Amino acid sequence: MAQLQTDTAYEPVMGLEVHAELATESKMFCGCSTRFGAPPNSQTCPVCLGLPGSLPVINHKAVDYGLRAALAVQCDIVSPCIFERKNYYYPDLPKNYQISQKRAPLGRGGRLEIEVGGGAKSVGIDDVHLEEDTGKLLHPDATVRSGEASSLRPLRPPKRDFVAREGGSARGAGDDYSLVDYNRSGVPLLEIVGAPDLRSIEEVSAYMTAVRELLLYLGVSDCRMEEGKLRFEANISLRPAGAQEMGARVEIKNLNSFRTVLRCLEHELERQEQVLRAGGEVARETRLWDEAACASAPMRSKEEAQDYRYFPEPDLVPLVIDEQWLQRSRKTLPELPNARRRRFVEELGLSDYDAGILAGERELADYFEATVGAGIEPKAAANWVTGELLRHLNERGAPVGAPPVTPERLVELIKLVEQGAVTANAAKEVFAEMFTSGRAPQEIIAERGLAQIQDQGELEGAVERVVAENPGPVADFKAGRKQALGFLVGQVMKATRGRADAQAVNELLLRHLAQAS
Ligand SMILES: [Zn+2]
Repeated sequence: MAQLQTDTAYEPVMGLEVHAELATESKMFCGCSTRFGAPPNSQTCPVCLGLPGSLPVINHKAVDYGLRAALAVQCDIVSPCIFERKNYYYPDLPKNYQISQKRAPLGRGGRLEIEVGGGAKSVGIDDVHLEEDTGKLLHPDATVRSGEASSLRPLRPPKRDFVAREGGSARGAGDDYSLVDYNRSGVPLLEIVGAPDLRSIEEVSAYMTAVRELLLYLGVSDCRMEEGKLRFEANISLRPAGAQEMGARVEIKNLNSFRTVLRCLEHELERQEQVLRAGGEVARETRLWDEAACASAPMRSKEEAQDYRYFPEPDLVPLVIDEQWLQRSRKTLPELPNARRRRFVEELGLSDYDAGILAGERELADYFEATVGAGIEPKAAANWVTGELLRHLNERGAPVGAPPVTPERLVELIKLVEQGAVTANAAKEVFAEMFTSGRAPQEIIAERGLAQIQDQGELEGAVERVVAENPGPVADFKAGRKQALGFLVGQVMKATRGRADAQAVNELLLRHLAQAS
């Protein structure tokens, strides 16, 4: 993927629009619930169904969330910002227009720092604006025909191919009809329009990661891609390396996961390069990505470009965001991931790697800081949090949330290891039990007999037995094969159930092996 940059004469120019559903409880312009997974059309009202005479009311919390995001990417806030009607016809859009922002969006001219290839890069943000989501078209499958609406799966036909059928309610008449679910109609959507500053697939990947991380940190979207809450549109062109002018830009819609974006862009880079190398011209157009076929197809050309005839929404007054509101919003901003990462490295002395993992998720970073706050060295805390804690969370597929092992309990365990009351190895077993039961480490150590062997005689006995029982490896060691020592240490650890201090075992073994010769 990076080959294109180095091995060819073309430079990719890419930008992403991120569409994030905001985590508000009600919709953008009405009081309907935004809960995901409800029965189709159960969360609708005259406003989000676009019935005549209904009037939109702006969701204050959605604006708050949008404002937080716009400030976090250092946008200038536009006040008053204006909601406009974006006019087009499509069956998932009951009003035949979508309320969006164009001329006066919530925020303009921001930036977001990404980390790529060991360095930092600042990516421009053209604007951040609010709009409402559309409904969802559904394609019936076999189970739907038997009447189970919950197993509807989404249909994403190319818009130009969509034909509204008559008699769509005639179930069982075949596959030639579609259903529509308006539960999503009117869900608040935040659009972050990135500048075409991305030059490689790695940068695109780092950018998506940074945006998602930021939205989660801000608590404004849960970013669940499997629920369609984070979606992307990409624009991409190639130009001769070193050129300033942009090549013909292709926009791609319908990208619903990181993997899809990356695959699609790799594919499109190749396609455009082939066209250019063959002496052709890349058409300026919008394409649709078909994930199943792993291919894109033209949707409309520049000539057919839709004119959305934006005009101010007459039912909503311009939205004034005064200084007080701005100040309040600034105060709600947490320390952002990049700043936290830097602080972990510079002030707590963590490696870039550890800091990257820990600061990447707000709850994990909070847990780590609480552990350090409970009185343990940052490095030791980082080892346990990135090691055992994450391992157990991942095994269970659990979010960080509030793990059963509290930071205080983890600190107790680390201190027991540092005091030599339990070996690092046995402590892992103790941690596993703590993770299940949430009990105190001392209790588990006593109950399971996991305390570190303090009795020199007991340890010597174990070493002697292992030497006696393993003549082969002992002979190997004496013949100069040093790796045999590791095996013997392992046998002693096994015999003592990890309760022996590895360093002490090592020294004892060396002494015994020297005596035995
Ligand atoms: Zn509604």
